[in-house]
Amino acid sequence: MVAWSVETFLAAGAEAVVLVVAADQIEMARQALPPSPRLRIVAGGETRTASVRAALTAIEAVEVEAVMIHDAARPLITGNHIESLLTALEIADGALLAEPVSDTLKRADPEGLIVGTTDRENLWRAQTPQAFGREKLLAAYASWPEGAAATDDAAIVEQAGGRVVLVPGDPILMKITHAEDWLMIERLAGEARITRVGQGFDAHRFGPGDRVWLCGVEIQHSASLIGHSDADAGLHALTDAILGAIGEGDIGDHFPPTDPQWQGAASDKFLIHAMEIVRARGGRLINIDVTLICEQPKIKPHRQAMRERLAGLLDLPLDRVSVKATTTEGMGFTGRGEGLAAQALATIETPV
Ligand code: MG
Repeated sequence: MVAWSVETFLAAGAEAVVLVVAADQIEMARQALPPSPRLRIVAGGETRTASVRAALTAIEAVEVEAVMIHDAARPLITGNHIESLLTALEIADGALLAEPVSDTLKRADPEGLIVGTTDRENLWRAQTPQAFGREKLLAAYASWPEGAAATDDAAIVEQAGGRVVLVPGDPILMKITHAEDWLMIERLAGEARITRVGQGFDAHRFGPGDRVWLCGVEIQHSASLIGHSDADAGLHALTDAILGAIGEGDIGDHFPPTDPQWQGAASDKFLIHAMEIVRARGGRLINIDVTLICEQPKIKPHRQAMRERLAGLLDLPLDRVSVKATTTEGMGFTGRGEGLAAQALATIETPV
């Protein structure tokens, strides 16, 4: 979300863009944003005003006449918005994008009982960016009492006697406040996404040996699983589920069993490959659910290790990684202990 605004300002030719984030988010922001010699990332303060002061300090040495302050929670800013503010600044100390209030405004008591209707004429909803002559802005901030709250920068410049004008805003500059707002923004940005589900199934036969691999975890056992690779049915089912969600065939298409290079291969390679295809398509894994079907080995003692291993391989939080186990009550090939099976589901979000 933040990257959209940063990229727009850089593309519009800003001499410097200062991103103000919480101190513990600086590294995350650095990784998420395109590297640019014009971009600085600084830690904000306790209040909005303190954060703006930190940004102004960061550009002390940059020679510019105009400064814009923008709330990155309004990500759909365009070069046209920036341009119209710069034009307005030619005749004013400050300019801000604003939309006329179109809804009727009610005043209510704390119980929700209406006590009045406010005349909405001449009322505007302030948006961002807000643009200011740099010297006016610095002087206004210098005279603003330390610790006093302000909900926007125009108020600070107004207080200092500055002439601030309204520039027609834009409904697409809506502010993201709730999770649902993000869905609307994605649609407006033409970045609608869909959720896909894929399922996978795999089975392997037991043979001589003393360990099995399941969901990327090695388990001591009185038999091993027979297969071309390490025969990790859990990872194979999961890889097929991921490939299935994005319509990319199955594990055998990507890693033919006839290819000697996969002989005895660790199956996490297959899973990582499937995730690379997902990411290359702009997709994102949401959650996975694996069911292992066998009488032996007992899965429960290893379940947590399997979840942690999968969470690590897939870069998912633990609560989006499920590993379950069941027997078939002695019936069928798993019941007779001839082999074991695994089923998996994967949910993936991708661009439409
Ligand atoms: Mg298999």
